[in-house]
Amino acid sequence: MCRHLGWLGAPVSVASLVLDPPNSLLVQSYSPRRQKHGLMNADGWGVGFYSADLPDGRPARWRSAAPIWGDASLASVAPALVSGCVLAAVRSATVGMPIESTASAPFTDGTALLSHNGIVNRAVLPLAPDAESTVDSAILAAHIFARGLDNLGDTVAAVGAEDPNARLNILVADGTRLLATAWGDTLSVLRRPDGVVLASEPYDDHPDWEDIPDRHLVEVSATGVTLTALKGL
Ligand code: GLN
Repeated sequence: MCRHLGWLGAPVSVASLVLDPPNSLLVQSYSPRRQKHGLMNADGWGVGFYSADLPDGRPARWRSAAPIWGDASLASVAPALVSGCVLAAVRSATVGMPIESTASAPFTDGTALLSHNGIVNRAVLPLAPDAESTVDSAILAAHIFARGLDNLGDTVAAVGAEDPNARLNILVADGTRLLATAWGDTLSVLRRPDGVVLASEPYDDHPDWEDIPDRHLVEVSATGVTLTALKGL
């Protein structure tokens, strides 16, 4: 499984979220603490973020198929990337899936950013000729975008019913909110004075981290954090 992280709040640097904490995504790439499947996340990484400097509210993305720990360019530039809405991921490729930058999250429909931590049988998903990669996560992302982000919980529950072995841990950012599902792996939330972090696992040992129960949907917006149980419990 991969590890992912989302931020919604005051503008902060990507480095402060992804590289600097004691158990940041960078550390989780080689030494995750809660990962249930896979030992490390060496098959790529990606960062997406929103900025008033970008045209039409579209996100910027930077993705790679190489381990995040070897990327000196990211280490150099990330302190200068500042945003109030960030989605980042490190990848452990599922056996048989391509290793290429386009298979690294975040995926996008041009507006939202999406990461998938898990596995799904592509045969239960509609054909997606426009998906960014043949990786299961890209096909799933195309399906979720087509169904609409407001239907994320129902879409995950429906795919989970079609593929009972699927693990469907989704994280989405759209510039003004974060949406996430816990379906087969860990998810935690941290409410900070300056914003909210959703992450596959805590990036430090702060006592305010809370675990999200499995098979739940989380929505983070300017008005707060809401938790909804998903069908199939
Ligand atoms: N199945 C996806 C991939 O191959 C995600 C894998 C994961 O969560 N480790 O990239």
